Amino acid sequence: MSHNAHCLILPYPIQGHINPMLQFSKRLQSKNVKITIAATKFFLKTMQELSTPVSIEAISDGYDDGGIGQAESFAAYITRFKEVGSNTLSQLIETLTTRGYPVNCIVYDPFLPWAVEVAKKYGLASAAFFTQSCAVDNIYYHVHNGVLKLPPTEVDEEISIPGLVTIESSDVPSFVSTPESARALEMLVNQFSNLENIDWVLINSFYELEKEVIDWMSKLYPIKTIGPTIPSIYLDKRLPDDKEYGLSIFKPMTNECPNWLNHQPISSVVYVSFGSLTKLEPEQMEELAWGLKSSNKNFLWVVRSTEESKLPNNFLEELASEKGLVVSWCLQLQVLEHKSIGCFLTHCGWNSTLEAISLGVPMVAMPQWSDQPTNAKLVEDVWGMGVRAKQDEKGILRREVIEECIRRVMEEEKGKIITENAKKWKELARKAVDEGGSSDRNIEEFVSKLVTISY
Ligand code: UDP
Repeated sequence: MSHNAHCLILPYPIQGHINPMLQFSKRLQSKNVKITIAATKFFLKTMQELSTPVSIEAISDGYDDGGIGQAESFAAYITRFKEVGSNTLSQLIETLTTRGYPVNCIVYDPFLPWAVEVAKKYGLASAAFFTQSCAVDNIYYHVHNGVLKLPPTEVDEEISIPGLVTIESSDVPSFVSTPESARALEMLVNQFSNLENIDWVLINSFYELEKEVIDWMSKLYPIKTIGPTIPSIYLDKRLPDDKEYGLSIFKPMTNECPNWLNHQPISSVVYVSFGSLTKLEPEQMEELAWGLKSSNKNFLWVVRSTEESKLPNNFLEELASEKGLVVSWCLQLQVLEHKSIGCFLTHCGWNSTLEAISLGVPMVAMPQWSDQPTNAKLVEDVWGMGVRAKQDEKGILRREVIEECIRRVMEEEKGKIITENAKKWKELARKAVDEGGSSDRNIEEFVSKLVTISY
């Protein structure tokens, strides 16, 4: 089959970045764009076998046997990835050309800004793909241009940034508020280092969700929102051949969850997950376990195998067997879509937040780090789709707070408003990616411009 264009997709090799880029790739492919994903050798080794309809090729980050875990520091990883990655990505572009599939655009994760230099070397177009919300991108932009000074001096200091509601110090991403994350912050701020030289800035969000901030940032950069990047099998209109879920580094327990959920009443279950990276303090894990128990709700809790030893003694045998199911990984969208789910107790990773929005599931936000505090602020105060559980002075969310938040979302008057808002956002998210919706139009425009670029 002849294609209109060929995009080489370069994700940063973590679950939360590769998933949205894969889903976006599938949308492009449905519009007759050839896709090649360049994933690191180590990431490919760790991936569970889930088929994908797009082709994947290996590049090297210089740590083929252990990925970032093999590097002596985060800074060393990023430096070596740039060095080795630039070379192996170049080799891949040349190999694809030799095979008769020349590339005409690199869609890269801005955690890896050196991809722009590779694109320029071969005269290719380039598009940055931001996997965070536009609000969070805007905060990092304001650190980049020196307007947001670090770290905020007072705990409750109010921060005004154009395009955003007023936020407090506790709402900014943790990398901004904690000086010890300087290297990570440098990488996040560097996302903006060479955007002047690129053709598009793609953001995994949708216009209706973040209008003001998108309008503001669009004055600076050629922004196109293309989300939510939910597989079409969970939306109203299914893309041809969109069967599989995605790529996962963890093995999902496929049948346990739907089998168990099928036996629970409608909207009765709290789904609990902290995504692929977040580690809870053992004390926090214990508070959460008791908070779930005292809420007296049914629960489905994803506890990754590396976190399991932090569960209270006998929790699995006694408490979980009565009211809950604990799994090491699940197909999250399949769970969120289930009619028995009444609320999502989430760390507010951006993918999880967008997935809850797209499937209309009210949230209890338990942000831990990274961009999660900002996402939690938006969930509660801007989109009215949940409540944010507040930590004590030790940074722990206590069991009474967790219990109360679950009850507020699932039982009381406030819960009704949250549920109505959840329905509204679900509708708007689906419209955005449906034919003629804001994100669909942006993807169409991206593709029609792409095909005019000779290669
Ligand atoms: N996820 C999943 N099964 C699980 C837990 C999470 O498939 O049991 C997926 C979830 O659907 C989301 C991703 O893992 O797409 C997590 O991304 P997010 O940005 O929410 O958090 P991160 O892992 O980056 O902290």
